[in-house]
Amino acid sequence: MADFVIAPPPVPVVPVEGETGGFPVRRILCVGRNYTAHRIEMGGDDRDPPIFFTKPADAVVPPGRDAAYPPRTNDLHHEIELVVAIGTGGTDIAVETALGHVYGYAVGVDLTRRDLQNAAKDKGYPWDAAKGFDESAPISAIRRWNGPEPVGRIGLSVNGKSRQNAVVADMIWNVAEIVSEASKLWTLAPGDLIYTGTPEGVGPLVRGDLVEGEVEGVGKLAFRIV
Ligand code: MN
Repeated sequence: MADFVIAPPPVPVVPVEGETGGFPVRRILCVGRNYTAHRIEMGGDDRDPPIFFTKPADAVVPPGRDAAYPPRTNDLHHEIELVVAIGTGGTDIAVETALGHVYGYAVGVDLTRRDLQNAAKDKGYPWDAAKGFDESAPISAIRRWNGPEPVGRIGLSVNGKSRQNAVVADMIWNVAEIVSEASKLWTLAPGDLIYTGTPEGVGPLVRGDLVEGEVEGVGKLAFRIV
C-alpha cells in the first residue's frame, strides 16, 4: 500500500560499527531473571524459568543521546545487559544453529520503573508500564559478530562508581538457548533485538546521573539521565 492516512512512524535505527547504514529495529524482546544472583535479589526462586517481556522498538536510545527520567516513578533502576541483534529470522530454531541467526551484539540498559514493576508483580498485572516506557532501552552501536557468543565481563557504573560487575558466562540461559527459546514463542525476524537479562547490583538512578556500561569484547555505552 503506497498511501497512509497519517505519516508512518520512522523506523528506529541503531548504528553499526564500521558501517554507514544502520540496523533497523523491528521489535525488542527482553529476558528476565537470567542471572542467579539477580534473580535472588529480586526475590525470585532459583528454579523459576527465565521469562520474556517486550519493549516497543522506539524505546531504543541510540548512542550519543541521553535518556529522560520517565514520569510516574520514584524508583528508576538500571539493568546492564548484553543485547543480541538478529540478522536472519526463523521459527523453532535449534540451539545448535541459533548463533547463525545473530547479526551482532551491543551493550544495552533495560531501564525499569521498579516501583511500578513491584506493584504489578503484587497484583499479577502486566509489566508494560514498568518496562516498556519511552526511552527505556539505551543501546550502544552494534558490533558485527561471527563465532562463539560473548562470555566476558559485563559491568555498569554510575558517576564513575561501579554498581554491576559480573560475567556474561554466568547467564542461566546462554545466547543460543535464548534465541532458540524465543523462536519457539515468536517468529524471529531481521531487526529484532533481544536484551538478555541483567546480573546482580541493580539500583536507582536520578536526574543528572552518568551511566556507563561495558561488555567485554562487545563495546561500551554512556548516557545521562536528564
Ligand atoms: Mn532486564
